[in-house]
Amino acid sequence: MNKVVLITGSSKGIGKATAIEFAKKGYNVVINYLTDENSAKELSEYLQKEYKIETLVVKADVSNEKQVQDMVNKTIEKFEKIDVLVNNAGIAIDKEFEDRTVEDWKKTLEVNTIGTFLVSKYVSENMLKNKSGKIINVSSTNGINTFYPTSIDYDASKAAIINLTNNLSIQFAPYINVNAVAPGWVNTPMNQELPQEFIKEETAKIYKKRFAEPEEIAKVILFLASEDAEYINGTFIKADGGM
Ligand code: NAD
Repeated sequence: MNKVVLITGSSKGIGKATAIEFAKKGYNVVINYLTDENSAKELSEYLQKEYKIETLVVKADVSNEKQVQDMVNKTIEKFEKIDVLVNNAGIAIDKEFEDRTVEDWKKTLEVNTIGTFLVSKYVSENMLKNKSGKIINVSSTNGINTFYPTSIDYDASKAAIINLTNNLSIQFAPYINVNAVAPGWVNTPMNQELPQEFIKEETAKIYKKRFAEPEEIAKVILFLASEDAEYINGTFIKADGGM
C-alpha cells in the first residue's frame, strides 16, 4: 500500500516541488490549494502520468477550521490514512513597518501559525490511531534570526512555528515525529516581486551566492519524512546556503 502525504499550499513553489519529490518515491499525494485550481489540477495530472501514483486535489483555507476538517475527512475517505503531513502553506505581506496593521498581523498569524496548528491537530488524529506519522512544518530563517522589521509579523509567525514544532513533538510522542525546515531565500512565486537590486544585495550575503531552488528545500522535507530521519524529532534544519 502506497504511503500518503498531504502537502498544504502545494499548487506552486516549495509545496509543488515537495509534491513531485514525494511522488518520485511512490507516495500518493494530497494537493491542497487555496485559489489556483488550474495549477493544482495540472500538477495532479502530471504526477499521475509521470509517477503512476494516486492524487487528491482539495481546495481549503488552512486557517479555516471547518475547511481543514473537510480536507482531512476527504483524504481519509480516499486513502484511509495519512503518513506524512507537510505544513507548507504560508503568506508574507510586503509592507513598510509604518503601514503594517493589526489586520496584517492577524492574517499572517492565522495562515502561517494557526493554520499549521489546525492541520496538525486534525491530521494527527489519524496518525495517532495508526501509531505512526511524520509532520514537517515549513518555518523560515526569518523565524530564527532577525533581518528586517519590514517582515515583523511574518518573522513572528515563523518563530512561532519553531515553538509549535517542539510542543507538537511532545504532545504526539512517541508516535509522530514533528520537525521543521527553515529555508533562507528560495526562488518561488513568493519572491517574484522583489526588486533586482535587493535580490543582488541578499545574494551577496549568502555563502552559496545564490537563492535555493524549491527542489532543494523539498529534498530536506523528504529526508525528514524518511526512515533515515527516524531519530530526528522536535527540532529544525536550516537550509539557507549559509548566511
Ligand atoms: P508561494 O507563495 O509560492 O506558495 C505558498 C502557497 O501557500 C501557495 O500555493 C498559496 O496559495 C498557499 N496558501 C497561502 N495561503 C493559504 C491558505 N490560507 N490556505 C491554503 N493555502 C494557502 O511561496 P513559497 O515560497 O513556495 O512558500 C512556501 C512556504 O515556504 C511558506 O510557508 C513560506 O513562508 C516558506 N518560506 C519561503 C521562503 C522563500 O524564500 N520563498 C523562505 C523561507 C520560507
